[in-house]
Amino acid sequence: MGDNEEIKIQFVLLGASGVGKSSLFERYFSNSFTEKARTLVADCKSKIICLNKSVEVQLSVWDTAGMENHQGMMPQYYRGTHGYIVVYDVTDKDSFNYLDTVLVNADTFATVNDNVKIIVGNKIDKVESRVVSRAQGLKYANSHGALFIEASAKVNEAVDHIFEKLVSEILSKNILPGSKSKSDDAIDITKNTPQSTSGGCAC
Ligand code: GDP
Ligand code: MG
Repeated sequence: MGDNEEIKIQFVLLGASGVGKSSLFERYFSNSFTEKARTLVADCKSKIICLNKSVEVQLSVWDTAGMENHQGMMPQYYRGTHGYIVVYDVTDKDSFNYLDTVLVNADTFATVNDNVKIIVGNKIDKVESRVVSRAQGLKYANSHGALFIEASAKVNEAVDHIFEKLVSEILSKNILPGSKSKSDDAIDITKNTPQSTSGGCAC
């Protein structure tokens, strides 16, 4: 890498059980999807995103599991986190109502000032069963100072955008120690190289 500048960014996926956190995680890192419910283990994966020839971002993402609906159980996942991906299921009103609890926990345990949040309405492929409108989701995100996006892990809609938007926002806010603002740099996702948890995860 020579003189390359490497920036390390950490995200965590939060939200009620069953909203599709692990599915978004798998779609982003492995471009795969399964209808089966995932095993209840926390996981962490990293990948390198090349912003330009000399700047690399090492993005590490935690997928939390099995403790989503127990308040205050995961302070270790919040430590050092720059970005929160807060997911609800557009077909499940309870998961939308649960966002308040998730955001309170994130604010309580955050150790990085000015961390960035993105609210994600997942499962938009289930058009017939939708109970939370895009307008409702957007309004909620705006009122909590969060970014907003709707996505589908199943049909791979907007999944990459979730991560790209968060990275861009974090770099534009210049909240990383020692990093310059890179918000104008295009993210070259074709150069992304997934790395598995075992051995190399920076989480
Ligand atoms: P988690 O508990 O938040 O990690 O949720 P999972 O990723 O385990 O997903 C729960 C269930 O929802 C699984 O059966 C998934 O296949 C399903 N699921 C996840 N994302 C989507 C999606 O975008 N569309 C549809 N139709 N189903 C999804
Ligand atoms: Mg899961």
